[in-house]
Amino acid sequence: MNKKTIRDLRDEELRGRRALVRVDFNVPLENGQVGDDTRIRAALPTIRALLDRGARVVLLSHLGRPKGAPEAKYSLFPVATKLAELLEGPKVTFVSTTVGEQARATTEQLAPGGVALLENTRFLPGEEKNDDALARELATLGDLYVNDAFGAAHRAHASTEGVARHLRPAVAGLLMEKELAYLGRALAEPQRPFVAILGGAKISGKLDVISALLPKVDRMLIGGAMANTFFRAMGLETGKSLVEEDRVDMARELLATAGEKLLLPVDAVVAATLSGDAPTQAVAREAVPADQAMFDVGPRTVETFAQVVREARTVLWNGPMGVFETPPFDAGTLGVARALVEATEQGATTIVGGGDSAAAIAQAGLEDRVTHVSTGGGASLEFLEGKALPGVAALDDA
Ligand code: ADP
Ligand code: MG
Repeated sequence: MNKKTIRDLRDEELRGRRALVRVDFNVPLENGQVGDDTRIRAALPTIRALLDRGARVVLLSHLGRPKGAPEAKYSLFPVATKLAELLEGPKVTFVSTTVGEQARATTEQLAPGGVALLENTRFLPGEEKNDDALARELATLGDLYVNDAFGAAHRAHASTEGVARHLRPAVAGLLMEKELAYLGRALAEPQRPFVAILGGAKISGKLDVISALLPKVDRMLIGGAMANTFFRAMGLETGKSLVEEDRVDMARELLATAGEKLLLPVDAVVAATLSGDAPTQAVAREAVPADQAMFDVGPRTVETFAQVVREARTVLWNGPMGVFETPPFDAGTLGVARALVEATEQGATTIVGGGDSAAAIAQAGLEDRVTHVSTGGGASLEFLEGKALPGVAALDDA
């Protein structure tokens, strides 16, 4: 990575200083408690490294989508409780405001080894507008800036981008560094064969990724509802499956340019409805009944895809192969996840990006058996599209 990280900072730059750290604590809350603490745990190495080196840590994050004003259900307070539990030792002070006198005073009074978590940045109207006055205010809360929020790095907001214009040094945290290293290496110098697996609901959201990755990969496997739009472009009956009519021409063009590289499912699991009691069957892609919908890739497809994945040296996976939230339509996604594990065991680098794909592999209990599961859905997609991430671009060059 060509950006400075906390490891490039000298001890004098950290000891006793307030490190203003933008983290991604955008976690699911259930009954006022943290549901899944993956993102909090992912930020611990950076927080601990800063504390170990004598810094005082001031944390900023967004949570959910409040509309620029406080909303109790999006308070970070439950996150502070969870963070204290996970840190096992350092005191975590929750501040019920994000900027202003009380917030600044708290950061200034923070003891070495102490941690403060400020309230949701999206309670402020200037956050998503990347308002410069807010960026300046945020900059007064620290003596240096660390961005560890990979999952929010594709947004140019006051706490991810603007603040870095007013607070130096501005460096990457360890999670940010790790995410960029894995994704960056896979794109820049992949060990071959390099295989991408793309799935999910909509081809429209992923056309840019497909176009950006096609020239780089050796094989591209397409599953999920995305495949249906390709089937339509091939003139196949798609029944009641989800198809994006306005992307059919685009899919046809991609089929023509991609040639052998692009591998589509050869069969599908269909049902009349998603409800658990509707009978399901696996059919060839040429035999989809007009009154049924494809909700998963079929067993022959899983076998073919798994074979390609097992022979790969680098695998990038984004998007589930079917409606994995509703068994039995999780079989295709699970099959691909298991193939990734096998490839990993044989020394391949395997990377999973995308919120739902990450959830699927965690649901299968396999997240520790692949090389890297990205914490950033949208951010990893934009990175793979070859776009610059504003939250990264704003940091100091190495
Ligand atoms: P990610 O978050 O990993 O990038 P997406 O958000 O693009 O993935 O897509 C995930 C969604 O796609 C899931 O909710 C899943 O149910 C849906 N999906 C996958 N295959 C199908 C299908 N055949 N029909 C309808 N929805 C599908
Ligand atoms: Mg998603």
